[in-house]
Amino acid sequence: WLISAWLMYAVSEQSRRLNELAVTDPLTGAFNRRHLQTEARRAFQTYERYDRPTTLLLVDVDYFKSVNDDFGHEVGDRALCGIVKIIQDRLRVMDHVFRYGGEEFIALLAETEGAKAHHVAEEIRASIEAANMVEGRTVTVSIGVCDVVHAEDVDHWLKQCDLALYQAKEAGRNQVVIATSANLI
Ligand code: GH3
Ligand code: MG
Ligand code: MG
Repeated sequence: WLISAWLMYAVSEQSRRLNELAVTDPLTGAFNRRHLQTEARRAFQTYERYDRPTTLLLVDVDYFKSVNDDFGHEVGDRALCGIVKIIQDRLRVMDHVFRYGGEEFIALLAETEGAKAHHVAEEIRASIEAANMVEGRTVTVSIGVCDVVHAEDVDHWLKQCDLALYQAKEAGRNQVVIATSANLI
C-alpha cells in the first residue's frame, strides 16, 4: 500500500512539474506566450457571455538593446526578472503575467476595466522607473493598455495593445497609452 501511495504521489508531482514547464518561461517564471493564448481566449469568452471586463497591459522595456550593449546580457536578464517581479507584486492573485516576447510582457487584469487598469499601469511604470534595476542606468518601460470592450477578437485585442504601445514609444517612451474608441484601428 505504501509503495502504491508513494508511486501515485510521484506521478502526480511529476505531471504537475511537466505542466508547469509547459506554461512558464524558464528565465522569468512568467507564463509563456502559448498560455497567454489560452487565458486571453478565456477572458474574451467571459466578456462575450457574461459581459465581464478584462484589460491587457503590454509592457515593453525602453532601449533594452542598449542595456545589453552597455552592461551585458546577464545584467539584462536580471533586469527582466526584476521587472516581472515588480509587475507580479502589483497584481492580484487572479491576474497573470506572461512573457510575450524577448523584453515584452503582458499583464492580464481580470475583472478590471480600462480606466482602473490604466491607473495600475501607471503605478507599474513608476515603480520600474524608481527601482534602480541596473546600477548606473534608469531602466524604464512603455505600456500599451486595452480593455476587452474595444476588441473584436483576441488577435485584434493584442493588436490594439501593440498600437497603444507604439504610440507610447513615439511619444517619447516611459509612458502609458490606453486604447480608446478614438484611437482604435
Ligand atoms: P525600444 O525602446 O524601441 O523598445 O528599444 P529596444 O532597444 O528595447 O528594442 P529592440 O526591439 O531594438 O531591442 C530589444 C532587445 O531586447 C534586443 C534583444 O537583445 C533584447 N532581448 C530580448 N530578449 C532578451 C533576453 O532574454 N535577455 C536579454 N538580456 N536581452 C534580451
Ligand atoms: Mg520589444
Ligand atoms: Mg524594447
